[in-house]
Amino acid sequence: ATPMSIMVASGKGASVGVLFKNAESIQTLRDVDTLIVDKTGTLTEGRPRLQDVVALEGFNEDDILQAAATLERGSEHPLAEAIVDGAESRGVTLTTYSGFESITGKGVKGQVNGQDVALGNRALMEQLGIVSDDLAERAESLRAEGKTAMFVAVGGRPAGLVAVADPIKETTPEAIKSLHREGIRIVMLTGDSATTAKAVAGKLGIDDVMAEVLPEQKAEKVKSLQAEGRFVAMAGDGINDAPALAQAQVGIAMGTGADVAMESAGITLVKGDLLGIVRARHLSRMTMNNIK
Ligand code: ADP
Ligand code: MG
Repeated sequence: ATPMSIMVASGKGASVGVLFKNAESIQTLRDVDTLIVDKTGTLTEGRPRLQDVVALEGFNEDDILQAAATLERGSEHPLAEAIVDGAESRGVTLTTYSGFESITGKGVKGQVNGQDVALGNRALMEQLGIVSDDLAERAESLRAEGKTAMFVAVGGRPAGLVAVADPIKETTPEAIKSLHREGIRIVMLTGDSATTAKAVAGKLGIDDVMAEVLPEQKAEKVKSLQAEGRFVAMAGDGINDAPALAQAQVGIAMGTGADVAMESAGITLVKGDLLGIVRARHLSRMTMNNIK
C-alpha cells in the first residue's frame, strides 16, 4: 500500500474510533481468517454485578458475603469490585482482612475475623484440598446461565458460593454476525469455567471455546492456532491478554482496558466496540485493493 493510502485509512479509522499503530496492522488485517476474543471486558462489558449468594448448612448468606467481600477489598480484579459493591448494596458491613494473597487466574485467600477464607474457582479449591460435590453441582447450574460462580471456603471448609453476571456489550452480537458473514472463525478464550464460557458462546453463536486458560497460557493458545496454519487476530482488554495480543498476527486492544494491552496491540478500539473490527477490516481491504 502507498504511504498516502495508509494515511487516509489511519485518518478514517481515527474518525470512527479505530486507531492503527502502524502500516502493518492496516495491511495484515484483511488476511485474518480467525479471531480469538477474550470474554470478560471484550465480548462483555467487564462490569460484573453480584447476582447470587448460596450458603451451605451451618453458614448464612450474609456471613458468606461478608467474608468474601471483605477479602476482595484486597483485590483489583473486576470480580472483586462486583462482590464488594454487591455486599455494600445489600447492607452487609465489611470488616478487616489480613494475610491477603492473590492467586492469578484462580482467586484470593487470607484471613477474615480470625478465620481462613478462600474465594475462587475449582482450581483454587483443588489446590487447597477443599471440595464439595453439592456446591460444585450448584455452581454448575449457575454457570449454565452464563454466570461466573465462585466457591467460598471458610475455616478450611466449603461454605458457599457467590455468582456474578457480566452483561454482553450491546454491539457484540452484530459484530459477531458481520465477521461470520466474512467467513471468519471466532474462538472465545477465557480464564472462566467451560460451562460459563459455553453458555455465553452459545448465546452469541461463537464457533469454539477455550476455557479455564491461565493467563500465561493465552499466548500459547494463539501459537497453537497459528501452528495449524491459521492467520490470527486476537482481541482483548486485560494485562493477561498482552502477550497473546503481541503473539497474534494482529492484536486488537479495547481502549477501555489496560494500558499494556494497548501497548501490545496494533489496533485499539477506542470505545471497546467490536464493530470497530468490522470497520477496520473494511479500511484494510480498501487500502490493499488500491495498490493493485
Ligand atoms: P478472565 O480471563 O475472565 O479475566 P481470570 O483469568 O482473571 O479471568 O480469572 C479466572 C477465574 O479465576 C475467574 O473466573 C474466577 O473464578 C477466579 N478468580 C480470579 N480472580 C479472582 C478474584 N479476585 N476473586 C474471585 N475469583 C477470582
Ligand atoms: Mg478480559
